[in-house]
Amino acid sequence: MANSSLRLSFEFFPPKTAQGLAKLKTEQTLLANKNPEFFSVTYGAGGSTRERTVEAVKETAANTGINTAPHLSCVGDSIESLKTLLELYQSMGVKRLVALRGDLPSGMGLGRGDLKYAQDLVAFIREQTGDHFHIEVAAYPEVHPEAKNAKADLLHFKEKVKAGASSAITQYFFNADAYCDFIERCQATNINIPIIPGIMPITDYTKLTRFSDMCGAEIPRWLRKKLESFGEDNDSLRDFGCDFISQLCERLLQAGAPGLHFYTLNQAIPSLSICNKIAL
Ligand code: FAD
Repeated sequence: MANSSLRLSFEFFPPKTAQGLAKLKTEQTLLANKNPEFFSVTYGAGGSTRERTVEAVKETAANTGINTAPHLSCVGDSIESLKTLLELYQSMGVKRLVALRGDLPSGMGLGRGDLKYAQDLVAFIREQTGDHFHIEVAAYPEVHPEAKNAKADLLHFKEKVKAGASSAITQYFFNADAYCDFIERCQATNINIPIIPGIMPITDYTKLTRFSDMCGAEIPRWLRKKLESFGEDNDSLRDFGCDFISQLCERLLQAGAPGLHFYTLNQAIPSLSICNKIAL
């Protein structure tokens, strides 16, 4: 399945401690061997990880030489602070951003910010920086949980593209048909940017269900039952998870997905095992 034109990317969150940052370097070195198109580093909505995101982006780019894309969200952030951050990223030589609305953690007590939706953030980035950045945006094959309906969500996605998004990364999902159907609907709506499936390796049942319930990613009932059945046997769960997600990736690539974006949760081995299994 090796195909050099496939767009491979890996996502990390900014560690809280120096020890976490040191461990992240080791994980990134392993993943850098796969020659990804880029690494990305998440951003806590409302600026809650601003310094740590900037630091992790600097360290990642310096240590691996891989193009590194900061995520940037607008909810809870002022126009002035977003402008400052964009200038900083330009001065650091950053060429790619992942632009999001974000979700404010409950209890942060912040206002909504100056820009309401990701489409406003994309337009703002283009207005401030022209074509400097390749802008990734989020897409939701299973529909964003707050959307009125699938059609409205698709049209809002199209607005992000019109505002200047270069390509998109999807929320993760476990059903290849959801992606294929979404791509068909995008094509029928004249949305023509590359849409890369987001891939979540399966390593921990409790964390996966909690996170999926929060972000609206559907775990099919049979899969929940299967994962539940491993109980404390995490090794077997990981083996099954690696097989299952590898098959999902193969189906997506066969269906024409232009690449894969892995949510690594700062662990190299689960993503690496999947890449090796499908000979990426
Ligand atoms: P939007 O595109 O603005 O959409 C949000 C909702 O508003 C949707 O329901 C949409 O249909 C609706 N909508 C959009 N425009 C309009 C309009 N004009 N009128 C009415 N409704 C509208 N979160 C973080 O906090 N930090 C991260 O680093 C981060 N990284 C992510 C990376 C990826 C690849 C993905 C898929 C998600 C990530 N998220 C991150 C989560 C994301 O912030 C949430 O899913 C958030 O709820 C929506 O963000 P968005 O950019 O898709 O928002």
